[in-house]
Amino acid sequence: MKTKASAANDHPCFECGTGTLVSVLEPFTTRTAEGLEITVPDVPMERCSHCGDTVLSAEAAAMVDAWIDRATGRLSRDELQAFLDQYQLTQREAEQVLGLGEKMISRWLKGPARVSGSMSNYIRLLMADAQAFDILRQRRWGSTTIQRSA
Ligand SMILES: [Zn+2]
Repeated sequence: MKTKASAANDHPCFECGTGTLVSVLEPFTTRTAEGLEITVPDVPMERCSHCGDTVLSAEAAAMVDAWIDRATGRLSRDELQAFLDQYQLTQREAEQVLGLGEKMISRWLKGPARVSGSMSNYIRLLMADAQAFDILRQRRWGSTTIQRSA
């Protein structure tokens, strides 16, 4: 049985032009930049009754994004800023140290681009260990002696 409200929300599918978009609440599966498959439960979507094409509202997309943040431990913008502050880096310096393209940090700070889960772990490690950051900044690979017991 269709309510008046849901009928008012129905509109033609952009994809096939034949079906109507119907509101559904279903799990949404997406793949992160690192290739992790993540399923977000109960995402409000609109699905075409004819071709099955699904559309996410901006609100639903933000919900999926927040879920991925939690699931993969992606760095927040505040944490990224804290990294710059900790080592007194300009955005360009941070990009050079991390081996990133120009304006990448700015894109992450301003959004909507997000730091990947693996890069987030990398930056957190650098924040936790100033010596590791120093080795990275100076590219002193292999200059530290690793003591190994026989
Ligand atoms: Zn359709």
